[in-house]
Amino acid sequence: MTLLGAAQIRELAAALDLKPSKSLGQNFVIDSNVCTKIVRTAAVGPTDIALEIGPGLGSLTLALLESAASVVAVEIDPRLAGQLPITVANHFEHPENLTVLNQDALTIQTLPVNPTVLVANLPYNVSVPVLLHLLEKFESLRTGVVMVQAEVADRLAAKPCTKDYGIPSVKAAWWAEVKGAGSVSRSVFWPAPNVDSKLVSFTRRQTPGDEELRRKVFTIIDAAFAQRRKMLRSALSSLYGSSSAAEEILMRAKIDPTLRGEALEIAGFCAIAAVAPDIF
Ligand code: SAM
Repeated sequence: MTLLGAAQIRELAAALDLKPSKSLGQNFVIDSNVCTKIVRTAAVGPTDIALEIGPGLGSLTLALLESAASVVAVEIDPRLAGQLPITVANHFEHPENLTVLNQDALTIQTLPVNPTVLVANLPYNVSVPVLLHLLEKFESLRTGVVMVQAEVADRLAAKPCTKDYGIPSVKAAWWAEVKGAGSVSRSVFWPAPNVDSKLVSFTRRQTPGDEELRRKVFTIIDAAFAQRRKMLRSALSSLYGSSSAAEEILMRAKIDPTLRGEALEIAGFCAIAAVAPDIF
């Protein structure tokens, strides 16, 4: 197997007459060592079925095929989705191990296989909703490593009472334990993005409740962080009619109503949801 380097990436793009799209977050990795490192960080093994979102020109896909039993790749751009099986057939002796789906990862509902590990250089403008959607829809995903914008990585892995802690941190914590997994230099991309990148890894954990509770919890999280400087009794007043109604719910949940949302772990939001009326 030969992985793709800068020259091959540029050749492939030229052959497709591809001008990388900003709105689709098309920044392609041109350093094969980075792809190998990502696959190693994700500890992808021979029994894994890897899910890759946004395979692009295939640099990470080839590195994944080297280690996983098979790869299912979801790519929104039809030109890239069409080219990928050809590129893989030219570089890898078992192209049948790859399935490419030309779909939007934000709305995908089913896959032909049950993936065990997510490995992706995510399109940066939709990285959080894509990650949360995949964790919700594909329960078989046990672990993963994704590359995202550095600030987003910090938010996903943030702990309570820090400046980065917010909606992505708490919602991701419903599904998984998330950790930072290192920085990636801008120079490994073509075109070079104007933001820094980081890796985050996740390990799925047992969710704190069922789907009904999750919906309730996520609504409370959205309200709590809508104005993050507000105390919870005031931030949740829009949901429960008044700040005194919100205060009563918080007291019943044994949460100090003068705290801010940023002080609560996912368990605190679950405690509120457990005693709050259903507002749907
Ligand atoms: N994996 C490749 C790499 O590392 O070189 C490309 C990564 S590039 C940052 C993001 C890729 O995601 C692009 O190929 C883009 O077309 C694709 N993409 C953007 N939005 C998408 C979506 N909603 N669903 C699936 N793929 C998407």
